[in-house]
Amino acid sequence: MAILVTGGAGYIGSHTVAELVAHGESVVVVDNLSLGHRQAVQRGARALADSGEIPFHMGDIRDAHALTEVFRQHEIEAVVHFAARSLVGESVQVPLDYYETNVWGTTVLVKTAVAHGVKSFVFSSSAATYGEPLRTPIQEEDPTLPTNPYGETKRAIERLLYWAHQAHGLQSISLRYFNAAGAHPDLQIGEDHHPETHLIPILLQTALGQRPGVTVFGDDYPTDDGTCIRDYVHVMDLAAAHRLALIRLRGSNGSNGSNANKLGAEVFNLGNGQGFSVQQVLTAARAVTGRAIPATVGPRRPGDPAVLVASSDRARQVLGWQPQFADLTGIVASAWRWHQGAPNGYGV
Ligand code: UDP
Repeated sequence: MAILVTGGAGYIGSHTVAELVAHGESVVVVDNLSLGHRQAVQRGARALADSGEIPFHMGDIRDAHALTEVFRQHEIEAVVHFAARSLVGESVQVPLDYYETNVWGTTVLVKTAVAHGVKSFVFSSSAATYGEPLRTPIQEEDPTLPTNPYGETKRAIERLLYWAHQAHGLQSISLRYFNAAGAHPDLQIGEDHHPETHLIPILLQTALGQRPGVTVFGDDYPTDDGTCIRDYVHVMDLAAAHRLALIRLRGSNGSNGSNANKLGAEVFNLGNGQGFSVQQVLTAARAVTGRAIPATVGPRRPGDPAVLVASSDRARQVLGWQPQFADLTGIVASAWRWHQGAPNGYGV
């Protein structure tokens, strides 16, 4: 039995593929390579004990025929679903494209998975489901009022999974990530987005001289230094959480029929529970790289909440999740190793 990973060639997807195969899981990847990198899957395969290949299908989650073919070729036990469009700003410009890929694509995927008897589904959700938080740290039962189409699509999919459980017994775990950063310690896989919009890679590309400087998006927020506070979590810790989610679903979907359907559709935050301001991340990046990293203050970025910090108590207690990279300097240093080793990402 294999685990189907959609979006397995993307940033968090490829690290999760590497984590799963390193723990002896059989993995099948579907990715349309619109944003992902084929090399990321190949390099992840180095985590395979027997140096084998990871089955890769270039396909789109909106394509029911292509997905059906994958389910025909492989005996799929569970789905880990990353494939999505994930840029907040872009989602405001082209909201219908976000609904089409994220909501419609997931609908096709879930229908196909249910039709092939899949009972376990792990979904890549987001802190963007909360919108402007009412309290810090954010807990899973807090209101979800997304402030952009990206967050709306992630929230809609969580609800789709809730109803898929009610109707079809599909058990799911939605993982609401806070700010993913860092890279695999050994496998030469890391973050490579085009365009890059995230703070830590932008700081490190500036350190490498690929950008003239960094714009800090606003210094008039109600925080100690006036810049936005985020909860940065290492990508390998996120990858580990997906594996733990699968273990939990597998336990519940085991041969003992009396356990069936006891989980439903669960939601977990994934963050370190500690917030760092943009200014603090800038200071950490200067310290790690030993480079100046010129920065100027610009206007606020629309839709940015002042503070986003997770309570991950539920993930720690229920999944047994224990982040290994809890400190900001370690996370930035991990990303810096990747950027230094691959200044052009997966490009030549
Ligand atoms: N940010 C910034 N300059 C940049 C990119 C990001 O000041 O060039 C800020 C952004 O406003 C936010 C934080 O850095 O407060 C993290 O942004 P990122 O895009 O990395 O992640 P997000 O919080 O949007 O998921």
